[in-house]
Amino acid sequence: MKIVDLQVIPFRVKRQGFRAGEVLPEVEAVQTLTKIISDEGAEGYYFGGHGHGDADGLTPDQRATLQGRLKQLLLGHDPFDREKFWHWLWVANVEENLISVIDMALWDLQARHFGLPLYKLLGGCRDKVKAYASTYPNMGSPEDYAQHALDCKQQGYTHYKIHPYYFWDPVKKQPDPGRPSHIVQDIELCHLVREAVGDDMVLSFDPWGTYRTYEEAFRVGRELEKLNFYWYEHPMPEYRVATYEKLCRELEIPILSPEIAAGSIYTRAEWIRRGASDMTRMDVLRGGITGQKKMAAIAEAFGVRCEVHMSGFANLQVLGSTSEDVCEYYERGLLAPGMDYETPPPYLHSLGDAMDAEGYVHLPQAPGMGYEINWEYIEENRIKS
Ligand SMILES: [Mg+2]
Repeated sequence: MKIVDLQVIPFRVKRQGFRAGEVLPEVEAVQTLTKIISDEGAEGYYFGGHGHGDADGLTPDQRATLQGRLKQLLLGHDPFDREKFWHWLWVANVEENLISVIDMALWDLQARHFGLPLYKLLGGCRDKVKAYASTYPNMGSPEDYAQHALDCKQQGYTHYKIHPYYFWDPVKKQPDPGRPSHIVQDIELCHLVREAVGDDMVLSFDPWGTYRTYEEAFRVGRELEKLNFYWYEHPMPEYRVATYEKLCRELEIPILSPEIAAGSIYTRAEWIRRGASDMTRMDVLRGGITGQKKMAAIAEAFGVRCEVHMSGFANLQVLGSTSEDVCEYYERGLLAPGMDYETPPPYLHSLGDAMDAEGYVHLPQAPGMGYEINWEYIEENRIKS
């Protein structure tokens, strides 16, 4: 089999937004579908590829790179040779998300070709994965967070992750670009959430690197320990690795990082070796499914967990092919009161990550990534170049 074409199809979608406690009016956004085609008619797809999850389309520059020099590199080669392409693209310093998009469309192609859900091709391990509710930051007052956590518990979630206040003053209720963190209110909301949901809900906390000093990160970490939080994610900027080593030494709560540091598996292996993280973190846009599977193996060898970052079809497929002892949870979100997470986007006929009343997300059983594509919508909303 040979690759004969690679296309990136941009199309319009309406997107709900949320900022500082309020649902914003829908705005128009661009989503992309990357499509790789073989000479035997097999096709593979990937939606998105820019930013977190799989909801953000590739930029015009990224589309041009994919359809230009990267397509030329792949044409005529066997679409099943993913490991070879992964190596080629890494040594050529191609952007991590573009390596990833190619890798994932090729995995989808092979799984569709064999008529298998992708996780079965990877090596199935489980058909359902525990989910956690992941909040928007700046979601409202500490009381709003507590109420939302309780609502999530009643919906079936067994784990709630707080993104607290950042770049936002929760007292004055206005943007605060120079003072990204507000730890007094962060601590208050953690207390109120624990009080609201009781002792039997797993809680975790992610200030997204906004604690600029060790002291701030340490003080909040001590409070999280008292409240029996499960993990403390990405508390400080990730370019200061020694400060993370110190935090891991001093705190008992597991530190989950790096999340956004570049360098895929290489950076994360180095953090584990240096004792700068207790749990590691990656997602499929930092090396594709191939990279994420390598990362799970590295984490397993070190006896640490690799918690998969963000939602999305490909992240879920990786989770279906790994043990709960290695990659425990699926991140469902971002969530906030008034935000609709349960309706599929208009270009898909079904949600990829529907959750049951016990808090599990079930792996889609359609061949490949699990997309049920609404081709009519994509054609009607296609942006012609
Ligand atoms: Mg995070």
